[in-house]
Amino acid sequence: MTRVPFLDLRPSHEPLRDELERAFARTLTRSTFVLGPEVEAFEAEFAEYCNVRHCVGVGNGLDALKIILLSCGVGPGDEVIVPAHTAIATWLAVTEVGARPVGVDIEARSYNLDSALLSGAITPRTRAVIPVHLYGRVADMRAIRAVAQAHKLVVIEDAAQAHGASGEDGMAGGLGDAAAFSFYPTKNLGALGDGGAIVTNDADLAGRARAIRNYGSTRKNHHERLGTNSRLDELQAALLRVKLPRLRAQTQARRATARAYIERLDQVPGLTCPDKGAVDDAVWHLFVVQTAGRDALAAHLESRGIGTLVHYPIAPHRQPALAHLGYSEGSFPVAERAAAEVLSLPLWPGIAPSSVSHVCASVEEWFALGKLPP
Ligand SMILES: *Cc1c(COP(=O)(O)O)cnc(C)c1O
Repeated sequence: MTRVPFLDLRPSHEPLRDELERAFARTLTRSTFVLGPEVEAFEAEFAEYCNVRHCVGVGNGLDALKIILLSCGVGPGDEVIVPAHTAIATWLAVTEVGARPVGVDIEARSYNLDSALLSGAITPRTRAVIPVHLYGRVADMRAIRAVAQAHKLVVIEDAAQAHGASGEDGMAGGLGDAAAFSFYPTKNLGALGDGGAIVTNDADLAGRARAIRNYGSTRKNHHERLGTNSRLDELQAALLRVKLPRLRAQTQARRATARAYIERLDQVPGLTCPDKGAVDDAVWHLFVVQTAGRDALAAHLESRGIGTLVHYPIAPHRQPALAHLGYSEGSFPVAERAAAEVLSLPLWPGIAPSSVSHVCASVEEWFALGKLPP
């Protein structure tokens, strides 16, 4: 059996090589490299894809979150609620604008913010909540919106892992006041470098974000507000326009792989698989299983030539960089257990069914050894 890497982006790009090269050539010929027609066209196309009115292309996903917070006037003295189990970028967006991230524990099964714990974390300083659609599964947005509305909080979706995911009230990107997407190369819609976008149905918020990404200016040499420099590259926009029309088919391929994994691994005692019921709504940025024997299972899979990763082995509140927030071990028990037990299995559009079978057989093999800690 040949090696099964954790991720292989080549099958996503090889069939598009000619089109990607033409998009590059078109941009080179035009030689407009910042805020030109490709960015404008991509913004319209991505807004349509997300079924929202406005899209603002920015430099990356972290900046998308930051610029939304700035557009909403969140800053020093404010608190922003974030899930305790997520990429550190969710928390860093809050610290970057000078506000304080306030963690809330997750639901064990979905790995998303536990909406039942939300109101307990709200203080008079709370301005916003950032639910993350982790691993490609939409958070409990209806409940989160209800609590947020009652306390007049801004709801910002961190949709960096959820391009095209569905919730009970529609698609990721349209389920809060604004949403942040990342086009980091490994994301479901990945650029050939960094990229990000803000989407929203709020024209005023979109206008403020559009100014903030470009030095606070919408009219050359006129600066109505403070801003930064975080624009989606013209070249990345041109390349993303080639990839966006393939995203639906790629999501279907991810779902087929997730279904195959679940059908085979669901019954393995000691292993927690994602919900079968989530297959057709989630977009499977990652396929994450959970077991008390995580590190030993990962080592076994490596010995069988299978790459895995952990998303994420250290919860943000346990990172030295965020020690000043005053959290400790035990602050968020469900998130801490996830950090110790989750394992991401290989999944990408184009993974061979034989590779998926090899992964499943190797997982079954390890559990049959009976080495799972009690
Ligand atoms: C990737 C990611 C981000 C940040 O995106 P970048 O483009 O890498 O800055 C934010 N939140 C989550 C959940 C992510 O997975």
